[in-house]
Amino acid sequence: MKIYDVAVIGAGPAGMTAAIYACRAGKSVALFEKNFPGGQMVNAHIIDNYPAEDCISGFDLAQKMFEQVAAAGADFINEEVTAITSGGDITLTTPSNSYRAKTAVLATGTERLRLGISGEDRLDGRGVSWCATCDGAFYRGKDVAVIGGGNSAVSEALYLSAICKSVHIIHRRDSYRAEVSLAEKLRATKNITEHLECVPVEITGEDKVSGVILDKKGEKFTLAVDGVFVAIGGRPEQKLIAGVEKDGAGYIKTDNEMRTSLPCVFAAGDNISKQVRQIVTACSDGAIAALSAASSD
Ligand code: NAP
Repeated sequence: MKIYDVAVIGAGPAGMTAAIYACRAGKSVALFEKNFPGGQMVNAHIIDNYPAEDCISGFDLAQKMFEQVAAAGADFINEEVTAITSGGDITLTTPSNSYRAKTAVLATGTERLRLGISGEDRLDGRGVSWCATCDGAFYRGKDVAVIGGGNSAVSEALYLSAICKSVHIIHRRDSYRAEVSLAEKLRATKNITEHLECVPVEITGEDKVSGVILDKKGEKFTLAVDGVFVAIGGRPEQKLIAGVEKDGAGYIKTDNEMRTSLPCVFAAGDNISKQVRQIVTACSDGAIAALSAASSD
């Protein structure tokens, strides 16, 4: 069986950058991805904070990165890694195969959080969505709500405002976590209504969403909407990273060289413990992880 120098798990911006840098260091590289290359970046309608790309869709940026990965010579393996074992060579198990590598970079990102309120699971796919760019077109001319106060929620509300009749953004605090420039755009958009200090308690509807019940300081009221977009952040998927040391919130602890607690296992991107989660910081992590892996195999 071929033993790769570097196995990268996850083809988001961190993983794709790691693959490019490891290839350029002369290493044989396998890049594993269960879905499409790009990770959560592909859901971004517009990215306007990645240097030299002042207005590009997440899909197009992902495509450009992937073309660079292919040109660099990485093997793209479109399979889900379900387990890794370290100690000597690393074994990576997928549903259909087993692979070996000298080092691994965990670039597995985060999975989207759910609200855990009544109606969310039952109406999933029938008005409840986690992706405005995927599902927004179904709500053309309709009324929708976006839940969350971070960059994802505000970006999704702005995207939906161009398609929908009205957009209600629902945030549990009185100020946004999102960048100031995005929050300013939100406030300047006529068909977006803010509902601050409001906690969603139930999504209503029989066969499809009819509304969302909010609690504002103990007073409940219902907003009639056709769709609810949940954008309340993410958390690393825990099963694959079970063996590495993590912080209290479940993010992988790394040192400055992106080493994890396991020998020859590195991590990069949104799944690591850090303050700033941006495409550009994911790329930076990926470059460092790859160069560390390349010098340790
Ligand atoms: P985030 O920054 O973690 O924000 C999550 C938001 O959801 C917060 O406002 C949080 O409220 C709220 N929330 C969490 N749990 C909730 C619950 N149970 N009920 C109601 N509200 C809840 O997540 P994100 O927006 O997905 O962003 C993730 C990372 O990607 C961030 O680092 C972000 O900067 C980055 N990102 C960047 C861009 C960009 O640069 N354009 C775009 C997308 C994402 P509190 O504020 O009260 O905690």
